[in-house]
Amino acid sequence: MKKILAITNQKGGVGKTTTSVNLAASLAATQQRVLLIDLDPQGNATMGSGIDKRTLARTVYHVLLGEADIREARVNSASGHYDVVPANRELAGAEIELVDIEHRETRLKTALANIEGEYDYVLIDCPPSLNLLTVNALCAAQAVLIPMQCEYYALEGLSDLVQTVKKVRTHLNPQLEIEGLLRTMYDPRNTLAQQVSAQLQQHFGDKLYRTVIPRNVRLAEAPSHGVPALGLDKASKGAQAYLALAGEMLNRAAAAI
Ligand code: ATP
Ligand code: MG
Repeated sequence: MKKILAITNQKGGVGKTTTSVNLAASLAATQQRVLLIDLDPQGNATMGSGIDKRTLARTVYHVLLGEADIREARVNSASGHYDVVPANRELAGAEIELVDIEHRETRLKTALANIEGEYDYVLIDCPPSLNLLTVNALCAAQAVLIPMQCEYYALEGLSDLVQTVKKVRTHLNPQLEIEGLLRTMYDPRNTLAQQVSAQLQQHFGDKLYRTVIPRNVRLAEAPSHGVPALGLDKASKGAQAYLALAGEMLNRAAAAI
């Protein structure tokens, strides 16, 4: 497995799921073998990949509780050309049920070992909180990809997240790194966005992706069709931005070798 990335930010609605789905599709379009794990009981990444969350016999919930092998739960997204370990509301119960289970923080990591070598990228779409589900993602991942909107409170939230990453690194997963910060729903004409952007550049330097994701209606529309924006309108600014992000990630990975 080349890279396992947790796509995370405890702040809601910043574009985690949009990034998970569209980055998965963009990496798949460049011939990468991709697995997307939906770790949010909202099941938005599942639905956005064209998989009906209401009709699933096996989901990530069963995988975390050891009731199913990850291979039994995964399904192919025909619209995105990647595999998905789906989620639905049942996953909300896992948080409570996991508490009494041994090695509760590393259930996902252990499950992923069964498919070692089958994918080039594993993307984990996290819920908007720092709960046990997110901790499972942070233990399984090599790195975190942080989508964020360039708003006033974004920086404050970011320092909480960075602290959490440090804590997980100390206690649970020493290899965990910050892969990158991604500016989402970006409006270059907005002065505040420019200021926050400059601060991010100053604090995080190379960790800030050069690619920015603009606000684009196709990205917002695509989930209702169960397709990534690439499948809906390849020429759209949103689809092109996520293709550029995939390119930037692959270039970075190649430069690191
Ligand atoms: P949650 O914290 O609830 O899981 P999230 O961080 O996964 O949310 P998304 O669901 O990806 O965020 O995005 C929130 C909303 O913003 C959605 O309605 C989505 O369609 C829309 N959206 C995300 N990115 C863009 C964009 N670049 N342009 C336009 N709309 C966007
Ligand atoms: Mg989401």
